[in-house]
Amino acid sequence: MSSPQVLIVGAGPCGLAAALVLRKNGIAVRLIEKALDYQIGVRGNGIQPRILELFKILGLVADIFDNSIEPPQMRAYDGKTVIRTWDFGVKEPETPQVPYPNPRILGQSTTEAILRSHLSQLGVTVELGTELVDFTQDAHKVTTNLLKRDKSGSSENETLEVDWVIGADGARGITRKHLGINFWGETLEKQAFLVADVEMEGVDRQYWAAYGNAATGFVMALPLGPAPHFSVVGSGTPEEIQKVVDGDFDAFKAYLSKIMKDDSVVLTKRKWVSYFRPNIRCADKFNIGRVFIAGDGAHVHSPMGGQGLNSSVQDSVNLAWKLSLVVKNLSPRSLLSTYETERMPPIKEMLKLTTNLHTQSMSDRDLASKDTSQSVNPGFVREHIFKQLGVNYQWSEIVLDQRLDRKKSIKVGNKVYTPYGKDDEPIQAGDRAPDAPNLVPVAAEPTITTTLFDLLTPFAHTALVFELPQSPAGTEPPSPASTTKDILAALGKYNKDGHRLVDSYLILPENTPDAGSGRVVEGVNRVLVDTQGHARRAYDVDATQALKALPSVIIIRPDTYIGAFVHDAEGVEKYFSKSLSSLFVAV
Ligand SMILES: Cc1cc2nc3c(=O)[nH]c(=O)nc-3n(C[C@H](O)[C@H](O)[C@H](O)COP(=O)(O)OP(=O)(O)OC[C@H]3O[C@@H](n4cnc5c(N)ncnc54)[C@H](O)[C@@H]3O)c2cc1C
Repeated sequence: MSSPQVLIVGAGPCGLAAALVLRKNGIAVRLIEKALDYQIGVRGNGIQPRILELFKILGLVADIFDNSIEPPQMRAYDGKTVIRTWDFGVKEPETPQVPYPNPRILGQSTTEAILRSHLSQLGVTVELGTELVDFTQDAHKVTTNLLKRDKSGSSENETLEVDWVIGADGARGITRKHLGINFWGETLEKQAFLVADVEMEGVDRQYWAAYGNAATGFVMALPLGPAPHFSVVGSGTPEEIQKVVDGDFDAFKAYLSKIMKDDSVVLTKRKWVSYFRPNIRCADKFNIGRVFIAGDGAHVHSPMGGQGLNSSVQDSVNLAWKLSLVVKNLSPRSLLSTYETERMPPIKEMLKLTTNLHTQSMSDRDLASKDTSQSVNPGFVREHIFKQLGVNYQWSEIVLDQRLDRKKSIKVGNKVYTPYGKDDEPIQAGDRAPDAPNLVPVAAEPTITTTLFDLLTPFAHTALVFELPQSPAGTEPPSPASTTKDILAALGKYNKDGHRLVDSYLILPENTPDAGSGRVVEGVNRVLVDTQGHARRAYDVDATQALKALPSVIIIRPDTYIGAFVHDAEGVEKYFSKSLSSLFVAV
């Protein structure tokens, strides 16, 4: 690969996802990791539905499904006695708009291995044993000092100049500290947890087994990986947990049996154990100059809610498409400031949500009572909101919604916004792009269908142009400001000089009379018939068109959030003028 334009520090999920999006955009990267070996251990075990969608666009969702399980039901025990069994999260059905409605469970080390294997196909290998120790920056570059070590104990320094740095180096990473960015929040000093991978017999592998409560200490055993492997999270006083983590196999066994109180459970192996204290902190800036921070390097929180790894991937996907455009001189540098303005509000909301869950789980309430008229401790149930399907950027200065009937639920001045979304809101610019299956290319056999998610890419915007439905016979056709031809011509301007910035699709209504005729339209990637109306419904096209008799253009960003709802060529140009350089705007 040519000399790197971006240095990514840290090969956890955040750094790996950033590297993958940048490489898919053709950017040369180096990805360094100070550890000498890849991380082992389960840790972040839940991939939320929204992140499954991002993984779909990045081409790895099939591998995630092949290596993961559905979240098992949770079962609370008092020794051998079953207290209660419940759904950890409500299992939701697939819909045309939400193809992955439920999380998948797999170890973080497996997720990282999948990301690495996709990266290696693009020529990027994680440089193990390579630590960022220092850096300086000026207006043109970042000069970094790397320390490279190997297992024999030898080491050498390297000075590397790059255009940009992404600090994905975790909560204790150097990047944020070196930039002098505050990390506001608190460390819950009095609470302690251990996270471990073990082998254990005698626990029913059908369930996520839970023992004890916050007052006595609890243990949760997740049956992940081939039997008899379990991923264990346990709580206790800081002194107790420290002793267990520092202690031997017998100390661990004694801790488990004190809480599990079941002599038929036999611990056979303690593979890995680590101590953690909840930290609830957020950086007050995500970027200074040519250096960004992301993932746990920018925000840390309780693992309750399973948002950490997921938010790290969202950070990376948000930042990397913008940085790619800036590196290629196709967007102004000001686009990069929207990484912070878009990501900071959902992160702050996530801190509130996870802290709330954490407080509930640590209350002196039992996990569940035998009395089913009483609810389970809410700390051990996951609501829909944690699936991140509602995370949005509606307030962003680079999104545009010309449907004036859309009420914006954002905070500008003293207005309230909902960065994790609300189910009852109509779709608007800044929201996640929903899927739409059963799109049939006009020139193809009707049996060849495609789904919108198959058309989205992490490097180009995707424009869906919905023509007005045919006017009933005898009525005057509406005369919108722009015809479809004008709109497609406006979209086509962004694909000049060998750049592919916009993929355009003309979407015809299901009842189009000439749908099967192989209509070819200049300037579009494909003409598709929305055979079951899923696309029109998902994007609320009929409601808007009935109201205004205007064509609808939906522009989906490379991070698969909706950039714009516009009606004409002028709207298209207005939208892209917010994120692309004047090179494109002036044409
Ligand atoms: C018990 C537990 C359960 C969890 N469960 C979930 C869950 O269900 N879902 C979820 O989404 N999240 C969960 N999390 C959180 C999740 O593990 C983290 O949020 C995630 O690892 C953050 O990814 P990251 O890439 O930002 O940082 P990290 O994974 O911390 O990676 C940072 C990397 O940077 C490297 N590094 C540090 N400094 C340097 C340097 N100077 N030079 C080079 N490399 C450096 C580190 O060695 C490390 O490999 C859980 C965490 C715990 C502890």
